[in-house]
Amino acid sequence: MMRTSIIRDLVILLVIFGFIWGIISLFPVFPEKVELVSIEREQELGETYLEAILKNSDFEEVTSEEMTNAVEAIGLRLENALEGSEYDYRYLVVDDKMINAFTLPGGNIIVTTGLIEFCGSPEELAGVMAHEMGHVEMRHVVSRLVKELGIAILTSGDQFVMGEVTRIITSTGFDRKQEQSADLFACELLEDAGIEPRTLATFFRKLRDDQDNELLEKFEIVSTHPNFTHRIREVLEYVPDENFEEIPMEIEWEEVKGQLPEGRVSK
Ligand SMILES: [Zn+2]
Repeated sequence: MMRTSIIRDLVILLVIFGFIWGIISLFPVFPEKVELVSIEREQELGETYLEAILKNSDFEEVTSEEMTNAVEAIGLRLENALEGSEYDYRYLVVDDKMINAFTLPGGNIIVTTGLIEFCGSPEELAGVMAHEMGHVEMRHVVSRLVKELGIAILTSGDQFVMGEVTRIITSTGFDRKQEQSADLFACELLEDAGIEPRTLATFFRKLRDDQDNELLEKFEIVSTHPNFTHRIREVLEYVPDENFEEIPMEIEWEEVKGQLPEGRVSK
């Protein structure tokens, strides 16, 4: 009798240990935190990665001043509405027919000529850029890299790692929760910048209607959270303050699109 109860207790203890062990191995006790990478360090990394991407990938910076000035102007309008940001934003236009925008560490936002061509107005592009700024400010960009590579590898500056970072940034997206918070961030920022936040819904609707377009394949906004009906509704539910006044963008959008490289006609 005595012996069986000892055995039973031992079995119970083993089960409990097994359970705790399972939990510990599923969720590491000391996960690497994004906070361990300072914003200063992130900006340095951003510079290095930006250089590497321009040197080693097929991306070529666009030289049309009209085009780069337009993107810069949109970025500045948003930046001026951002309060207390610690980032020095930088905007780059690369010649690529893929409809894409992606963000490197340190607030380096890259948009493609394909995206400019796809946007019906500078306000639509502002929506995408505001969404990307959300990923920067909420540190989603670095979090994703820390999660995939770990801090030591990420900050090593190794050439091989550069290639990995490029791959991760240009081909994988954020998670659903991060996407939702970047959408909300974009709405708030657009409103503060005097841009109708619901323009984002117009843009999402275009994405939804064109989901089979293979040029959209790498666009992070599409790849991670393509439930546009839900996203459109969420953006439409965002009603700006009653004192909200729209300040028009002084950009000749059709002319900007006219600067697209030879052989490509804007719609
Ligand atoms: Zn996103």
